Amino acid sequence: MGKNLKCEVLIIGAGPAGASLAFYLAGKGIESILIDKKQRIDTPLRCAEYVPAPIVRLFGGPISGINCSTVSMDTYIDYKYANTIPSPGFMLDRPVFLRTLVDSFIKQGGKFMPGTKAVSFDEGYGGTFKSGHAKISIRNRDQQNNESIGKDIQQKESRGIGFKKEGLRRKDFRDNDPGMVSTVIQGRYEERSIIRSKIVVGADGPNSIVGKYIGSINSGYILGLGEKIPVEAKDKNKTLIFFSPKIEGGYGWLFPKEGSTNIGIGCQFAVNKKNINITLKNIYKDFKNEIFSMDFLDQKGGRSDTDEKIDAGEPIEQPDMIPRSQNSGLMTGLIPASGMLKKTVSGSFILAGDAAGLTNPITGTGIYNAVNSSKIISSVISKALKNSEMDLLSDIEKQYLDTFGRSLQRAISRRVELMDSWPGGNAPDAYSKSDFNVLIRKCWISFKDYWRP
Ligand SMILES: Cc1cc2nc3c(=O)[nH]c(=O)nc-3n(C[C@H](O)[C@H](O)[C@H](O)COP(=O)(O)OP(=O)(O)OC[C@H]3O[C@@H](n4cnc5c(N)ncnc54)[C@H](O)[C@@H]3O)c2cc1C
Repeated sequence: MGKNLKCEVLIIGAGPAGASLAFYLAGKGIESILIDKKQRIDTPLRCAEYVPAPIVRLFGGPISGINCSTVSMDTYIDYKYANTIPSPGFMLDRPVFLRTLVDSFIKQGGKFMPGTKAVSFDEGYGGTFKSGHAKISIRNRDQQNNESIGKDIQQKESRGIGFKKEGLRRKDFRDNDPGMVSTVIQGRYEERSIIRSKIVVGADGPNSIVGKYIGSINSGYILGLGEKIPVEAKDKNKTLIFFSPKIEGGYGWLFPKEGSTNIGIGCQFAVNKKNINITLKNIYKDFKNEIFSMDFLDQKGGRSDTDEKIDAGEPIEQPDMIPRSQNSGLMTGLIPASGMLKKTVSGSFILAGDAAGLTNPITGTGIYNAVNSSKIISSVISKALKNSEMDLLSDIEKQYLDTFGRSLQRAISRRVELMDSWPGGNAPDAYSKSDFNVLIRKCWISFKDYWRP
């Protein structure tokens, strides 16, 4: 049994939600521990790194890790120019942005434990611990009826998470104070140990273990797939967005950086799609060929390592819930696309960022909302701890609704419309080129129609 720790707030996950929450809580003098299963912050990176400029307001001043600024966004439909809108923002070096927040947290006395995974929870004295079997299980306290993909994940996880652990015994939970949560953690080369805290924040991304524990998980995803190419965009002031019927329910992107360009696609997918590998690789190759044949990049891109690997038939790296296989050099990640979860607070547990479903299901962007959710959480936690009243935490749900409710609701309804009419999707016969044009103009943020009531 490793050494046990105690704190007021345990933050699980050092992505944008967790790193910013650690930063905010440190500023309020609240004793927190931040853990992340990754050994190095944000490595591997699973993001295209664009943030809207107003993110600086959430920090009350400049932020670190800005690679370059962008001023507008161009949209292409069927690889034909459609429109330009102002879209002031930044391209981040995201690991630098996060590392700076975590460094500031550490400087103010916070404890950061990289390479440390949360594996289970216990509220009170050994509630989930079965003596003699050396087994701890995740309890989904009131599992909600998640549909389709969500259901698959939930079933798979509830089978997979139960584990046998020599070294954790009933007496390890004996000192639990009432009202404290025990989180069982596993370091890469260490024995399991326990962190006791008054509050646990699940900032642990789309496939959240905290969400599973409280029975509130994302039920639909977009799969993001992309890479950083060592070629600069000709115009570094613009982000470029590409819609094509082949990129089902999503789009392709070309985001400029100093010295490189982030390109990729986000696609609708089903967890059990058997041909995910072939399908996605082909869609991605096709997208890459299209954008390389246009005049966006400083020098015509030669063949990258990634192209060679794809051609050699190497499978793409796949997100956690699909069996992992060899890596072709592309980064992949899940983007929640089912909207804000109904339950984001349960007792002493709180969900933030992607774990709470705060990613925009049309744009796939979630960094801004993840940081904003942490700002909300930090003020409410501060009040709750000051007044020793955990019931106050429920105010987070109200503030989420006020802050994100309308825009995420609009995005969800546009997404439903998009998927219902996507060519080859639910309405295969209804498609023509002009229909696709009209559909995108109704469902993408750069067109007036998107903003209709
Ligand atoms: C390909 C792709 C491109 C994207 N591009 C953009 C973009 O350009 N702009 C934008 O705004 N958004 C983008 N997004 C979405 C954005 O990345 C997420 O919305 C954002 O990262 C959410 O932050 P988070 O902190 O909630 O979760 P995450 O960034 O997923 O962080 C969760 C952290 O928790 C850790 N963790 C998970 N489980 C455990 C555990 N059991 N114990 C300990 N640690 C754990 C993980 O290691 C991870 O570091 C993109 C997503 C993808 C997949």
